[in-house]
Amino acid sequence: MSADRAPASLAAGSPTPPTRVFDVALLDLDGVVYVGPAAVPGVPEALAEARRAGMRLAYVTNNAARTPQEVAAHLTDLGMPAGPDAVITSSQAAATAVAERMGQGARVLPVGGPGVAAALTAAGLTVVERAEDEPAAVVQGYGPGVGWAQLAEAVVAVRGGARHVATNVDATIPSPRGVLPGNGALVGVVSAVTGQQPLVTGKPDPAMHAECVRRTGARRPLVVGDRLDTDIEGARRAGAASLLVLSGVTDPAGLLAAGPEHRPDLLARDAAGLLTAHPVVTAVDGGWRCGRWVATADGEDGLTLAASRSGSRGGTDIAPVDDLDGLRALAVAHWARTGEQARPPAVSAADDEAARELAGWGLGGR
Ligand SMILES: [Mg+2]
Repeated sequence: MSADRAPASLAAGSPTPPTRVFDVALLDLDGVVYVGPAAVPGVPEALAEARRAGMRLAYVTNNAARTPQEVAAHLTDLGMPAGPDAVITSSQAAATAVAERMGQGARVLPVGGPGVAAALTAAGLTVVERAEDEPAAVVQGYGPGVGWAQLAEAVVAVRGGARHVATNVDATIPSPRGVLPGNGALVGVVSAVTGQQPLVTGKPDPAMHAECVRRTGARRPLVVGDRLDTDIEGARRAGAASLLVLSGVTDPAGLLAAGPEHRPDLLARDAAGLLTAHPVVTAVDGGWRCGRWVATADGEDGLTLAASRSGSRGGTDIAPVDDLDGLRALAVAHWARTGEQARPPAVSAADDEAARELAGWGLGGR
């Protein structure tokens, strides 16, 4: 692929803030709006500002544990007023999928938090508690109280012919103590024992984003998420633009190693990135420049970051709005070289300033 053509839309940036370009933000929750019980610092204020700027907000979560009413109440408590209609959960997506396939009134065994059973009931399905009730499906979603007994019941039901449906297969969830087991880890327990692959209905399946677009009448939606394999891929599959935030589970190394379907259009520290312009990444002298940083790809996987001398590149600089310009340059340089592949680069620094920048992102040194 030509080094002059950036395959990633991250290169185009957004010369005006996303609030002026997109009409509805489809926000993921865990790792975007809150981590554990607490809001991501500054995000409630940023979302209030986005609303004042005319952007509408909807919330799209793979976390199946709670009902839309509970999620909306939590958001409102955290200073982000929302009604249940602004929230869509993967439990609702699973319930819709099961009702479509198995018919209204079908018996379903839920595994997960109260949100799972509530969504099944709301979709007109019959909730049962035991494999002996011969459920047509087992719907498994995240719940902090899920234990061996529920997993065992699910195994018996699936072995008896029930369809195993997973609300999502996120392997991890973010927490103040670092990542912890997500629903995908527990779905893996059931499928490892039964040998059956589950039907997965949450992100990256585009159904939830599509439902949100339908509800809000969005014309130019922007998906805001912290996970590459759910939020960003889901946005791609729904035909929506995406903003990756680094306030959740994705770190800079994970971003650089992303394959094409996991590459976001915009990048920010957190959801306050809705309010700021995003710089372009331009081709220069065999490398890629963003702000004052130049990234150069060499060899198979080598990637070097250098601080350019002030003023040496002409009058294209805009004042940086965050400390991610170097990372944007690295991502575009690496993706231009890897094309369709997902491969981690070997990153090094050309100077002390670049070394400090890389260390700040947990990337390789000089
Ligand atoms: Mg998340």
